Amino acid sequence: MKESMRTSSGAVIPRMTAEQAEARSYLTMSLLDKMHLMPVGDPVAYSAAADGSPIYYFDPCRVREAPPENWYIPDEADLVQPMRLENGTLIGRMSTRRAAELGYYTRERLAQMHYDVPPEPAAYTLRGDRSVIYFYDKSAAVRQPLMCVRCGREVRYRRKLCRACFEADLAQRRAEGDAHRNAEYHMQRERVLFFDLELTGVYEHDEIISVSIMNGAGEMLMNTLVHPTHKKRWKQTEKIHGITPEMVADAPTLSELAPRIRGLFDAADVLIAYGISTDYAHIKYIYATPAERNALRAKTRCAAAEFVRYLQEHHPDLTHASLSDAMQVLQVEWDGVAHTSVADTIACAKVWERLFPHYYED
Ligand SMILES: [Zn+2]
Repeated sequence: MKESMRTSSGAVIPRMTAEQAEARSYLTMSLLDKMHLMPVGDPVAYSAAADGSPIYYFDPCRVREAPPENWYIPDEADLVQPMRLENGTLIGRMSTRRAAELGYYTRERLAQMHYDVPPEPAAYTLRGDRSVIYFYDKSAAVRQPLMCVRCGREVRYRRKLCRACFEADLAQRRAEGDAHRNAEYHMQRERVLFFDLELTGVYEHDEIISVSIMNGAGEMLMNTLVHPTHKKRWKQTEKIHGITPEMVADAPTLSELAPRIRGLFDAADVLIAYGISTDYAHIKYIYATPAERNALRAKTRCAAAEFVRYLQEHHPDLTHASLSDAMQVLQVEWDGVAHTSVADTIACAKVWERLFPHYYED
């Protein structure tokens, strides 16, 4: 064995006997481990173990307290077939399964998980031919930026795609959406109805207090307040639609209006509302049987759902999809007082025509 060696950081350290090292109070790595200390910097000397491998010595004046995660790791005596790394650290042999339990993985596996490989392994195992496979601690590894799931070459931008793939994807959705909307035409303005209800609240037990129905030609076919049969007050929604109990005191009830509404609905090919599920849940009671209610439902279209689809294709940054948002994006102006059922109905009809530009064409 040579009389000196160069450490991984380039320092040259002398070889000495264990007795000489002890005389200088130098500490081995296993002694430092037992004292829950770790060296600061390189070893200052080394000696040769019985098998010829080096035992490093550290200067006791250049040590610091080891963090707990270092010293609760099994010490030399607990390691299976310990192997000393060039930096003096001991690592044990373990099965791939045990390594995975501890969060230790091979270099290749870490790369697959998009982690940079730490400089030193944390454990090892042996192949059938006795060659060594090292395991690295994932918690000590730095995560690499995630790659695009489509091309795998560029860093992710949005929706797990790189910018180029995201934009190509968006262009394709847009083309599909435009094709979907442009494919609807031939509708007769008189047989397309837009409607809006004002309610005492959003729940099942709430009641209709206003109905507006307009056709695609812009004719307002019904615009009336409705007298609720159970509810006496609706303080919360009154602030939104402005309809007071006094205003509906002399208005017709829904059952009085039902024959006329049914006549309008039955003569229509399609019924469109903005956020139709709430409207449907309340207006369906003008029909008595489930079959009639299903027939009504089959004719309905939701302008809000179509607007959300359009947003996802054309403005994926926007997440709000109220009627006012749709009007803003599609550049539609209010006609009348916002949030009254008549103004909402007109706005819904305009939004629909922006979304389906050929809807009434031959
Ligand atoms: Zn890509």
